[in-house]
Amino acid sequence: MKFLLITPPLTQLNTPYPATTMLKAFLESHGHRAAQADLGIELVDRIYCREWLSHYAEGICETDEKAYMQRCSDIVEPVKAFLRGQDNTLASRIANRSLLPEGPRFEQLADLEWAFGTSGTEDKAQHLATLFIEDIADYLRDHTDPHFDLIRYAEQLANYAPTFDELDAALRAPATVIDNLMLKLLQQHLDAERPDAVGFTIPFPGCLYGALRCARFIKQQHHLPVILGGGFVNTEWRKMSDRRLFDYCDYITFDDGELPLLRIAEHLEGRLAADQLVRTITPAAPFLVESTENIPNQELPAPDFDGLPLEKYLSLAEMTNPMHRLWSCGRWNKLMMAHGCYWHRCAFCDTSLDYIGRYDTPNAATVVERMERIMAQTCNSGFHFIDEALPPKLLKEVCEEILRRRLTVSFWGNIRFEKAYTAELCDLMADAGCVAVSGGLEVASDRLLRLMDKGVTIEQTVQACRHFRDAGIMVHTYLMYGFPTETLQETLDALETVRRMFDEGIVQSAFWHRYAMTCHSPSGREPERFGARRTTTTPNPFCNNEVDWSPTQGGSEQFDYDIEEVGNGLRIATYNYMNGLGLEQPVRSWFPGIRFPKQKKHHSR
Ligand code: SF4
Repeated sequence: MKFLLITPPLTQLNTPYPATTMLKAFLESHGHRAAQADLGIELVDRIYCREWLSHYAEGICETDEKAYMQRCSDIVEPVKAFLRGQDNTLASRIANRSLLPEGPRFEQLADLEWAFGTSGTEDKAQHLATLFIEDIADYLRDHTDPHFDLIRYAEQLANYAPTFDELDAALRAPATVIDNLMLKLLQQHLDAERPDAVGFTIPFPGCLYGALRCARFIKQQHHLPVILGGGFVNTEWRKMSDRRLFDYCDYITFDDGELPLLRIAEHLEGRLAADQLVRTITPAAPFLVESTENIPNQELPAPDFDGLPLEKYLSLAEMTNPMHRLWSCGRWNKLMMAHGCYWHRCAFCDTSLDYIGRYDTPNAATVVERMERIMAQTCNSGFHFIDEALPPKLLKEVCEEILRRRLTVSFWGNIRFEKAYTAELCDLMADAGCVAVSGGLEVASDRLLRLMDKGVTIEQTVQACRHFRDAGIMVHTYLMYGFPTETLQETLDALETVRRMFDEGIVQSAFWHRYAMTCHSPSGREPERFGARRTTTTPNPFCNNEVDWSPTQGGSEQFDYDIEEVGNGLRIATYNYMNGLGLEQPVRSWFPGIRFPKQKKHHSR
């Protein structure tokens, strides 16, 4: 049985998304054949090429815009080679601003001398080249396909979609120019691989439209079985009842795809009855039956990158901040150290779902063997551990194993800040190659951290961050605002904590999310424990992840202040901190439209 496993447009552009590499390796270790394709990077590569852009420029009527796009087409190939790390000799010309046509994105350029000094020519060039790529994407979105964005495609149709109506209508409309490019690439893979079945991973809302466009094309033109799975499916479709989705696919799998795909293969080969599929819904059995049956992590093979166009990935640097750049620069090999989270208790987190709740680890030697195999295959020694929270005990053992084998690697990943990150462990991590960690400081309030069962205090987090800083490991922190019962003063205090951490140099980057109550989290399953109640309980026919809620005390409004405006203030403040600016300003100054309660005056005797 041969599978074609596809990452649909669009996800990140600097490195492959890991699902197909893991599934391909697993299926092949069980006697099946599997090819893989990343249609996202292929699509971007197809658009950002001299031939396509110059043809596109010919169709533009307005003279200046035509000349701009013509110029873009003339230099796009060398700029791409630079962003792929294949030709760094171009850096000086890009950095001295004599090469790139400068579109609207360049108008917001900060003081580059401040950001890069005179020695960071390559970093500066990478930032400018990224603006050039983004300008073209903006133009295409504004003039040709409103769905197109560099790392997401038609995301607005999949975000918070209670019904399938709007997305279904868009998918039934004639294909756009960009859709057709995508389908052409898909056709090439189908011709080359001649698979028996095609699987799509849908990790984010920004690749749902692309997946379904491709899926329907395969069903209509090639009559092959189509399978959908991935993170978006796992969180949004567990209660999905709209059967129209089966016009686009035959099987929808939930949680880890290894076992469901293996069973589907056996079923398609006539060796297994349909009712023996696992965590899979079909037109004949459209309601999910949960199952915890899985392949133990220790038995999984190393991810297999064969067939992915590794030379095509682009390192983009939207921001000058070195920690922030890790997400979009560098072709980091994505690898999972352990499955699930060892803590799995935080109130806002999807702890009832397999990807968080089922903690399953391989041993350290297996993790490092996987790293060695991947390095041999990709000729790249950088790893991004995609764990929800790296377990400190296994992390320590892996670091020791890396050092014992005298490997030279770099790695980073997500952690849960806690006491276990002592100075000794942080030094060991740095010795083994750890360059950065990210973790949730969440609401940065001890009361709320207790309420959400984060199991850590601000002081413990700050201490861990100091140890990372002293070891030379960069820190990114995730922050949250708008948790049930959170007061305006608590949010303000949280920003003050963050300001101090930036000022002390113990975090390098941060991002604020607005709290979202999901139906898979403790706060969504028992909202009353957190001072909230769900305002809708009937599942939507299509997507069901985030739920509406209101407080159980006070009025029906979630907050007695403008939460959006507060969110903007938090983001602007943090953006400035990440650029080393505004650290001396009082935190209140980032919220000019917000009226704060009067502070109590303290009288000294
Ligand atoms: S938020 Fe992080 S630490 Fe908490 S349960 Fe989720 S993955 Fe684990």
